[in-house]
Amino acid sequence: MSKPTLETVQNVAILGATGTIGIQTLDVISQHPERFKVFALTANNNVKSMFSLCSEHSPRYAVMLQPQAAAELGAQLKAAQSSTIVLHGEQALIDVAAHAEVDTVMAAIVGAAGLHPAMAAAKAGKRILLANKETLVMAGSLFMRAVEESGATLLPIDSEHNAIFQVMPHQRAKSLAEAGIKRVLLTASGGPFRNATLDDMRSVTRAQALNHPNWVMGPKITIDSATMMNKGLEVIEAHWLFNAAANQIDVVVHPQSVIHSMVEYNDGSVLAQLGNPDMRTPIAYGLGFPDRLQSGVNSLDLIKIGRLDFCAPDFSRFPCLRLAYDALNAGGTAPAILNAANEIAVEAFLAERIGFMDIPLMIESVLTASVIEDVVSIEQLATVDAKARRAASLWLENHA
Ligand code: NDP
Ligand code: MG
Repeated sequence: MSKPTLETVQNVAILGATGTIGIQTLDVISQHPERFKVFALTANNNVKSMFSLCSEHSPRYAVMLQPQAAAELGAQLKAAQSSTIVLHGEQALIDVAAHAEVDTVMAAIVGAAGLHPAMAAAKAGKRILLANKETLVMAGSLFMRAVEESGATLLPIDSEHNAIFQVMPHQRAKSLAEAGIKRVLLTASGGPFRNATLDDMRSVTRAQALNHPNWVMGPKITIDSATMMNKGLEVIEAHWLFNAAANQIDVVVHPQSVIHSMVEYNDGSVLAQLGNPDMRTPIAYGLGFPDRLQSGVNSLDLIKIGRLDFCAPDFSRFPCLRLAYDALNAGGTAPAILNAANEIAVEAFLAERIGFMDIPLMIESVLTASVIEDVVSIEQLATVDAKARRAASLWLENHA
């Protein structure tokens, strides 16, 4: 597998192209036509958005998960005399992620559905821009091993992990200790309910939970941010990316979302990466690495921002954060079970079937009733994931 060199045009596959990360990736790519060619775009079933992205970027392949959506897209593109080839199904997602002509894969499908294509990119030795944190939560050991064995380049896109990556030494140390690092500090905005009382939180609506103060994101991660499960998933993500133990990963609530995360070195130095809360910065960093590219993000105006605040996370109002630390400490399949139960809980909350504070209750109940195993294979994880989803659905039938 030839490595992409930055002198040549990189062929990019964007998995989850119609999502908020996908669209922002295309925005950055459009600013650098001399460096990037859009080779493949994928989505689930949003034909309208995919048609307009294909018209604008003329990828070689467009993949829809749903066959009906692919048929509609194919007909529309044919009528528009486009030469884009339309494929469908999970295997096609995997095939474009591992395609011999692809250099860079942006893994930005939401949820567990992103695991297999991201894994295929890792096994094929691609340069992987990883936004789909669920891949590491579910299958961190297998994914990191695949990256290692194939010689893939892994660049974290989640803003916190991208920040940590930026302030860490890049010659890969085997451990934080070897790199002279004491701990990593993940910043968290605290979401829309940072100052809400537990009573208020029991009755929050879908619309209130979807109203994130700082970031524009897809619905699933927006609800995860409101429960702080997002930060919990990020703790697990940091564990795998940086080989950090749970007690070396601290969460600091920082409402302005200007410091995207920090690393504390043994000598007491704390290095932070700052910027406006705009995902085009980490995306441009991943696309250009080791070069720095224009991203279209405005300059940070610290005088206008005026102050940066910090406080400790409240584990009693945000039990999802504690559940994620517990799952990380339990190890094995516990984080995959946590992730599956969370996906069902978030769907149920978005469908207005359960209340906001039922989300952690459901997850805890599924975790408590599950047997935790060592992670051995991706097939085993599929079974574990399905079983946890069934347990969560059962909980829902009994409680919703
Ligand atoms: P969105 O919901 O905005 O987009 C999700 C994308 O995935 C869409 O293209 C969607 O297609 C596609 N998709 C959904 N379900 C499936 C499926 N079953 N199979 C294949 N494709 C599917 O999500 P975001 O862009 O917000 O997030 C993407 C990932 O990036 C998540 O893992 C999230 O945690 C992570 N992330 C996002 C950040 C953000 O700022 N948004 C920040 C950090 C991480 P369709 O449109 O057809 O439904
Ligand atoms: Mg994040």
